[in-house]
Amino acid sequence: MKTTGYAAQSADAALAPFDFERRELRADDVAMEVLYCGVCHSDLHQARNDWGWSQYPMVPGHEIVGRVIAVGNAVKLYRIGDHVAVGCMVDSCRECDQCRKGLEQLCRKGNTQTYNDKDRFSCEPTHGGYSKHLVVREEFALRVPDGLDLSKAAPLLCAGITTYSPLRTWNVGPGSRVGVIGLGGLGHMAVKLAAAMGADVTVVSRSKDKEADALTLGADRLLLSSDTEAMAEAANGFDLIIDTVPVKHDINPYLPLLDVDSTLVLVGQVGPLAEPSTVPLLLGRRRIAGSPIGGIAETQEMLNFCAKAGVLPDVEMIGIDQINQAFERLERADVRYRFVIDMATLPASPASAA
Ligand SMILES: [Zn+2]
Ligand SMILES: [Zn+2]
Repeated sequence: MKTTGYAAQSADAALAPFDFERRELRADDVAMEVLYCGVCHSDLHQARNDWGWSQYPMVPGHEIVGRVIAVGNAVKLYRIGDHVAVGCMVDSCRECDQCRKGLEQLCRKGNTQTYNDKDRFSCEPTHGGYSKHLVVREEFALRVPDGLDLSKAAPLLCAGITTYSPLRTWNVGPGSRVGVIGLGGLGHMAVKLAAAMGADVTVVSRSKDKEADALTLGADRLLLSSDTEAMAEAANGFDLIIDTVPVKHDINPYLPLLDVDSTLVLVGQVGPLAEPSTVPLLLGRRRIAGSPIGGIAETQEMLNFCAKAGVLPDVEMIGIDQINQAFERLERADVRYRFVIDMATLPASPASAA
């Protein structure tokens, strides 16, 4: 299937129009027309090869909402016209212990990433949602529940599940004391989701400027991390802290905030941190953990939860031709809180078959 999208041709190139082929439908594939695609901070990192494993040309995008336009002859879950979503992975081995537990994100053989990866069968490069069409195994498509606003739902597929999964893993519920560090794409979802689960939510921030936004998003308060007195008073006051900061940073000031046996979970930074001290870990029996996205079943659970609880990200809609400016603004954290590309703004290539 011929299609079109926006791709990076190298680490220092701007994204530009790119015609390419999607694979022919396998028996268990669905083809979708992409309607909306969120712009994740990791799209920027990968387009610029910040993690050192980028392959080009690269069509980024792993927060994808669309409509089924064709199904393979063995497809059981979806029909033409269904609204579906795709997140950060499009396949896994489906045989290992993790896959059998529904934890495909932790597949022993590695899941197949939606872009900047290779198809498990054909070894062709995978391409993401900054494109007109996507072909995916039906098991890795999610159903968009009725009532979830399609134009806002896309960021749930990465920012949403990345923050929902640790909230569920560490059993957050009514009365849980949850801290959120960093109020960007991930952080604002962590606040909304934790609040919707009934938790007592504190945004921990270097900037008092974030206070009004934090409260609007559903937080109960903002704790100013530069206020040493307030930080000391808040010690031992959290059951879970979700750290969404996407760059190298110092977690030492936050560790004393954890109660005994409580956890600071890193979901933003992929790479080194400033050196953590073991003193607050040992003395308070505290933990540092990491968490990626969730599995397919948990991602569907998250979408259903958001539809029921009315949780949606705050988005700024852009046209695909604004993607390079959006990347620049993302780098300055100048977005409240997620860009979503309206893919209707991507002109169909003359050769495109839809
Ligand atoms: Zn992402
Ligand atoms: Zn597996």
